[in-house]
Amino acid sequence: MKYAIIGGTGVYSLGENFKEISMDTPFGRIDFTVMEKKGKEIVFLPRHGKGHGCPPHLVNYLGNMWALKEYGVEFIFSTVAVGSTRIDISPGDLVLIRDFLDFTKSRPMTFYDGANGVIHVSMGEPYCRMLCNEIIKRTNDNIKDNIVYVCTEGPRFETAAEISFYRQIGGDVVGMTNVPEVVLAKELSMCYCTVGVVTNMCTGLVSEEASGLEIISIVNKRKDYLTNLFVDILLNGDLRTDVCSCRSSLIKV
Ligand SMILES: [Zn+2]
Repeated sequence: MKYAIIGGTGVYSLGENFKEISMDTPFGRIDFTVMEKKGKEIVFLPRHGKGHGCPPHLVNYLGNMWALKEYGVEFIFSTVAVGSTRIDISPGDLVLIRDFLDFTKSRPMTFYDGANGVIHVSMGEPYCRMLCNEIIKRTNDNIKDNIVYVCTEGPRFETAAEISFYRQIGGDVVGMTNVPEVVLAKELSMCYCTVGVVTNMCTGLVSEEASGLEIISIVNKRKDYLTNLFVDILLNGDLRTDVCSCRSSLIKV
């Protein structure tokens, strides 16, 4: 059984036993790192490529998820940096995402482009219930649950009017990278869940915008905590594939 952690901004610190892998996919070459521990393999995949070179709207989401599936990954934890639309969710908070609103515009969204008939994927439970439960068990009140993520196209930030709108339709946090990643995981029948790190208040909620340095500083403080949490769950958790809907979400017409 293989596992993966997808990270955004910042680089995870790894133990000694790891190897670098470069995999060719139909969507281009994907680089990732594999750590071996207790006879298990955990893949660390930098979403934006090595060195954070790729902006959110140009991330190779198809290649990333294809590479994980091809490598044999069954369970994925991902982290995203988010802005908050709510005054009760502050920079530094961790949020467990359970649903999303998609406002992306131009990115490739699916592996099923009609070559093998029309296939839909259910979004009744976009994020794996079993993985979310494992997180809740270990974090108690340290994470805010039942969060709705708004995905925008980027790379520009949102206007105050857009943030006001997102809040009114139920969006709790805003980011640029979780869609289509979550959808593609489901299309490939992998268990996937996402923890957001709140790095700033959204436009209009405070007068000052967060600088890049402030964002990186906040993410770094949470990075080690989340890495340890995910690795603990992957090595010691009760991970099963029969208690969620992740492997039965494809609907062929
Ligand atoms: Zn699942």
